[in-house]
Amino acid sequence: MTFDDLNLLPALLKALHTAGYERPTPIQQQAIPHVLDARDLLGVAQTGTGKTAAFTLPLLQRLHEAKPTNQPTGPRAVRALILTPTRELAIQIGESFETYGQNLKLRHAVIFGGVSQHPQVQALQRGVDALIATPGRLLDLINQGYVNLKHLEIFVLDEADRMLDMGFINDIRKILPLLPKQRQSLFFSATMPPTIQQLADTILRNPVQVAVTPVSSTAETVEQAVYMVEKTDKPYLLLEVLKNPELRRVLVFSRTKHGADRVAKGLTAKGIGAEAIHGNKSQNARQRALQNFKSGETRVLVATDLAARGLDVDELSHVINYELPNEPETYVHRIGRTGRAGAAGVALSFCDLEERAYLQDIQRLINREIPVEDSHSYANNDVAPVPLKGPNITKPKGPAGRPPRAPRGAGAPGGSAAGSRREHTRPAPAAPRTAPAERRSQGKAPTAAAGKPSTNGRSGSRRRRRD
Ligand code: AMP
Repeated sequence: MTFDDLNLLPALLKALHTAGYERPTPIQQQAIPHVLDARDLLGVAQTGTGKTAAFTLPLLQRLHEAKPTNQPTGPRAVRALILTPTRELAIQIGESFETYGQNLKLRHAVIFGGVSQHPQVQALQRGVDALIATPGRLLDLINQGYVNLKHLEIFVLDEADRMLDMGFINDIRKILPLLPKQRQSLFFSATMPPTIQQLADTILRNPVQVAVTPVSSTAETVEQAVYMVEKTDKPYLLLEVLKNPELRRVLVFSRTKHGADRVAKGLTAKGIGAEAIHGNKSQNARQRALQNFKSGETRVLVATDLAARGLDVDELSHVINYELPNEPETYVHRIGRTGRAGAAGVALSFCDLEERAYLQDIQRLINREIPVEDSHSYANNDVAPVPLKGPNITKPKGPAGRPPRAPRGAGAPGGSAAGSRREHTRPAPAAPRTAPAERRSQGKAPTAAAGKPSTNGRSGSRRRRRD
């Protein structure tokens, strides 16, 4: 099935083409026709399955095609509301609206708590067709009279089970009576325990139900390993890992655009074919980089999550998480890019001290401990592994995983000036990192397949010399 078979507007098809999407995912194939038919829908699907496009595409189409009903005079009233539990998801959904709706004249706004409400209020006052919101801030702005949901036509409740886990049920109960009874409702949840089913029953009318395989199952087919490493050593670790020729076609994920550039530049300087793709690059530059990567001309593609959307590369041998994502589903989605078409994929993650909290979230989501690979030159005692059933690790304050400062004449990918000074320092032998019993419980990482550098032949942990 192609997107053309789904009766989508040419403007949406064009946007999908620009985004590089080739085929609809199973949830999109199943959901889009029903949503276009104005049916209520219960979708059992996780993040990573393409569910955002499954509701965003037909929602945009319906808003575009239907004339707004009973619109008041003044700014446009909200016609679609998408409720989602976290700020990150809200932002991602907002980005999807931007991507898929780029050729339509619909307006959307994203509102979430923890930041000033001022720009959000301004956006609302200009008028929006679709509002993407987290429950707390939405209620806040409703109570202040900035949001009116009387003219709502479509309501989407995203990640319902997570909403409940995060204690949003009372907020949702307060929001529901404010919605018109006559509306289309779409309800998405990764799991359907009885409490969620009850909530769905109160919201949906005669819904069509669609379900797709949980994305976390991809985590079971991909070989994974985590390298506990100091942030400043990541560039050197990357070079070491890439010495293994088994890493033929490697997608490296970086959290920021600048970080992606820095990593690609550092690798190129060391003679490793690498290019970066991210939102600051032109569409042409991105296409070119992708083409070079697909043809094997470049061995490493460094991408941000956003730029990697829709990237469809067969025979990706390895995914490397140069930085761990702060949304655990993003990890599952990233690693799902390797091991396609029946091939066994390998995903390697570099985890520094600050990212241990993210590693904990990821392990909880996939419900397994990712084996620690410690046969590398940059293992040390300072970044301890994360047991699956350990106590909560505090999340870092401030911008998550802020990358090191821009290098001056960096000697390694993404390296800082201080890092490049260290370049010629041979790592000195390390003290054992963890107590033997604890290490036994870690399990061993996949070795050759995990892309363990085969060149140094060393085993055990090493502590690099501090200078
Ligand atoms: P979601 O489950 O909505 O979070 O989507 C997961 C990721 O898949 C996002 O990065 C989307 O941009 C991407 N995606 C969604 N639909 C498709 C598609 N049909 N082809 C390729 N990528 C897609």
